[in-house]
Amino acid sequence: MRPDEREVAGLTCAQVMAALSDYAEGDVPADLRARVEAHVAGCRQCEQFGAGFTALLAGMRRELAAPDPVDDEVVARLRRVVATSPL
Ligand SMILES: [Zn+2]
Repeated sequence: MRPDEREVAGLTCAQVMAALSDYAEGDVPADLRARVEAHVAGCRQCEQFGAGFTALLAGMRRELAAPDPVDDEVVARLRRVVATSPL
């Protein structure tokens, strides 16, 4: 165990990190979920990491759900091509 690792609620920080992606997906058994929550509530390090991680995941989900934005530069280039096309 690293010196900055703590054991809270029967889980070490490393075990919480390992469970975190499953946890964010809602894919962990209820007892592990409760222990992860208890650990994060009592461990500042994991609390900060967990908040950043879930925010990152939420951001990625929003990005994936949104349609691909077309780059303004691409639109401008297409407009120029269309405007100068002899057809
Ligand atoms: Zn921790």
